Amino acid sequence: MVERCFVPSSLREALEIRKEYGAHPLAGGSDLMVQYKAGLGITPDFPFPVMIITKLEELKGISRKEDGSIEIMALSTPSEIAACPFMPFHVKSAASRMGAIALRNSATIGGNIGNASPKGDLPQPLILLDALVVLTSADGERTVLLDDFIRGSKKTDLRDDEIITKIIIPPVEYTYAYYRKIGTRKANAISKLSLSALIKIDDGLVSDFRAASGAAGPKVIRSRESEEILKGHRIDEIEPLIPAFLESWNNAISPHAMPEYRRNTTKRMLEHFITEALAMPECEIID
Ligand SMILES: Cc1cc2nc3c(=O)[nH]c(=O)nc-3n(C[C@H](O)[C@H](O)[C@H](O)COP(=O)(O)OP(=O)(O)OC[C@H]3O[C@@H](n4cnc5c(N)ncnc54)[C@H](O)[C@@H]3O)c2cc1C
Repeated sequence: MVERCFVPSSLREALEIRKEYGAHPLAGGSDLMVQYKAGLGITPDFPFPVMIITKLEELKGISRKEDGSIEIMALSTPSEIAACPFMPFHVKSAASRMGAIALRNSATIGGNIGNASPKGDLPQPLILLDALVVLTSADGERTVLLDDFIRGSKKTDLRDDEIITKIIIPPVEYTYAYYRKIGTRKANAISKLSLSALIKIDDGLVSDFRAASGAAGPKVIRSRESEEILKGHRIDEIEPLIPAFLESWNNAISPHAMPEYRRNTTKRMLEHFITEALAMPECEIID
């Protein structure tokens, strides 16, 4: 049984419904329908009002702004993100590896973020890129760092009257980029572990270094403290710093299941990334 179901045709209408009834947004439904399924062929049993938001044209589209930032509207699907010619490498790689084709055509980025699963594929590269999330209510708009918005496993900072309207990826430069997802199969598999990383080397100096790990804790792990260990050093000074960097990462992650496997694999992926990045400083690597 569904408590109450709304189908707004504009964002304004949706925001009023959200404010008045606290209706939960239902986009692709691939998390929500599964989570509340009542039985085969039976309508899901939602214990709260829902609002189907797929008609909201205001939440569709991907664009690049003059300053080089990219805006991805909340209803964008993994297929649209993967096909976008100016999508950053890490996000494109993650989107193209999500589920099977039917899922990639119907799931949404807003739902992937709203669901806040530690195994969700899109938050990991977006957090690497310091993406921002725009939250809109009938009373206004606020923009927060995605890394702050996702608080933990299935926990976000979304208020009862808000909808995720878009994600903004600030411009980013790198000389070497890395993305790897380890699942049971290459596609159509929920991540067992994933890693996005980038490095920027300017005249032999590591001017930027970032890594984000998915499924290695209750939320995406981005250890800025560990990143600082390698930043600002010349590439010929990096090797002796690697053990301290890996130790710091090991302290930052907190895998719930199969902790030993996840710790060892994350360490190996990070070592692989750094070694390759120093050997071939201008490249994009994907498995
Ligand atoms: C067979 C299968 C395979 C899957 N494989 C993968 C995979 O490989 N990788 C992966 O990451 N995920 C996977 N998933 C999980 C799921 O498909 C994704 O998390 C997807 O992105 C959810 O998007 P959705 O639009 O379907 O979300 P929905 O189910 O519609 O919503 C999910 C949550 O987000 C909230 N929400 C949705 N849109 C908004 C919005 N605009 N504002 C605020 N809140 C919002 C909803 O209220 C709900 O709480 C899989 C699921 C299935 C069933």
